[in-house]
Amino acid sequence: MQAIPSEFLAIDRKQRARLPSYHIPTRPPEERVCDFNDIVLPLDEETARFEASRCIHCPDPAPCVQACPAHNDIPSAMWLIEEGKFLEAAQLYRQTSSLPEICGRVCPHEKLCQNSCVQNHYDEPVLTGLLEAFVTDYERRYRKIHPREPRIPHRQPVAVVGAGPAGLACAEQLSRLGYRVTIFDAKPRPGGLLLYGIPNFKLPKDVVLERIDDILAAGVKFVGNTFIGRDKTIDDLFAEGFEAVFIGVGTGIDAPMKVPGADLPGVYQGTEFLIRTNVAEEFLPQGMEKITGIGRRVVVIGGGDTASDCLRTAVRMGAQHVTCLYRRTEKEMPGGKKDRELARQEGATFQFLTQPVRFLPGEDGRLKAVECVRMELGEPDESGRRRPIPIEGSNFILEADTAVLAIGYWPDPTIGETTPDLETRKWGLIVTDPETGATSRAGVFAGGDAVTGPDLVVTAMVAGRKAAQAIDAYLQAKTR
Ligand SMILES: Cc1cc2nc3c(=O)[nH]c(=O)nc-3n(C[C@H](O)[C@H](O)[C@H](O)COP(=O)(O)OP(=O)(O)OC[C@H]3O[C@@H](n4cnc5c(N)ncnc54)[C@H](O)[C@@H]3O)c2cc1C
Repeated sequence: MQAIPSEFLAIDRKQRARLPSYHIPTRPPEERVCDFNDIVLPLDEETARFEASRCIHCPDPAPCVQACPAHNDIPSAMWLIEEGKFLEAAQLYRQTSSLPEICGRVCPHEKLCQNSCVQNHYDEPVLTGLLEAFVTDYERRYRKIHPREPRIPHRQPVAVVGAGPAGLACAEQLSRLGYRVTIFDAKPRPGGLLLYGIPNFKLPKDVVLERIDDILAAGVKFVGNTFIGRDKTIDDLFAEGFEAVFIGVGTGIDAPMKVPGADLPGVYQGTEFLIRTNVAEEFLPQGMEKITGIGRRVVVIGGGDTASDCLRTAVRMGAQHVTCLYRRTEKEMPGGKKDRELARQEGATFQFLTQPVRFLPGEDGRLKAVECVRMELGEPDESGRRRPIPIEGSNFILEADTAVLAIGYWPDPTIGETTPDLETRKWGLIVTDPETGATSRAGVFAGGDAVTGPDLVVTAMVAGRKAAQAIDAYLQAKTR
């Protein structure tokens, strides 16, 4: 990590703002591909203070605050960090965010707060995400985060369905307000995609588990292995005495690839692959086992962040040739540039304008190769991106021991189908009032990916917090 001389902390703010910056300090690729540990090196206090001092404190409303979906008061946090008041800075983040230690790590800062930083005009943006993670880690190390006592204990029971960022944030806010909250989740442990999706090298699981422990220690109950809509319905929850329900079930169905051989052994769905390679055995859903061997050649199909996560996981699993197949060009890829660049540094390669048309088995019945076709781009389709068109006669065979399909996510229609009067759209996304998360069914609120479709941790978290306020208003009005 670059050491910043202490005299920099004492020089004039304008001068400091023009000093050359540096990129996020990461472990070298050849070292980090050997394990699943965090790739980002921890900041030291002096470097954190220097980096924060590069903030020029734009007048209110600062562009970074506006660009942050949680509207974190970033300029004030930067000031506190520059002054060495790390605990105060962490507390400031906690006023507007339920998961700052997580958002500090996984938010696409380069598209949000850092993208809007005026320092971009001179130099590099202030590394606000890194600093958010630094102060919240510091807080955990030096002052345990004590769960707050509920202000008015024993208010009405509220059920939260889904323990991802949306459900956790909603539960945390409601429990602070004194409601008795129970979270139900289909998985054995809470966390949603924070635990059962995003790999450890991007988001260390202990960071997630510690934050979940805080929320549970504040009095939130967790009931795992319970699929709402199958094991019990939303109506059953009301019959059990819950007076409001928040639905934050995400979009958990991997989009299938309808080509011959997609069900061969050795072909995995993206989420299943990430869970079975990244999640500790004790947290695996019932009947799921760890994947131990993936062979030498791995292809990952798709162009989003899940594809990058699968590529980087395959490299760490010991594959020697890890290739991403994407049917458009890099320009049209929906995934973040940063994750793609990290995947490249770690040895993954990309074949653009390439579409699998068939998965071929070997003599043992397992995947042996993928038949692909080259594509060219035609006119834009309904998504605004140019439509990929197969080039006749361009088929070719690519050897592969493992293929991972990371081509998108669909909502699960079960809750919509089993809850009377709950309005849904597009195969199961829940329709809500965007300000409150209220659904068409009285007392039922929803937020996160289940409403928007696949989005971000921070947007799901914000939706959960907003819905908690609306649930509070709804229940207060009910008791008047
Ligand atoms: C591989 C991958 C990597 C990602 N990387 C990033 C990243 O780096 N940065 C970022 O900001 N975002 C990232 N995302 C997106 C982010 O994880 C999601 O937007 C976010 O987790 C959505 O939160 P949520 O609470 O709405 O849903 P989820 O996190 O999906 O949680 C939903 C929960 O509901 C449970 N559930 C589902 N149905 C039921 C049911 N019927 N009954 C009971 N429980 C149910 C599920 O088990 C799950 O625990 C990534 C997504 C994936 C798939």
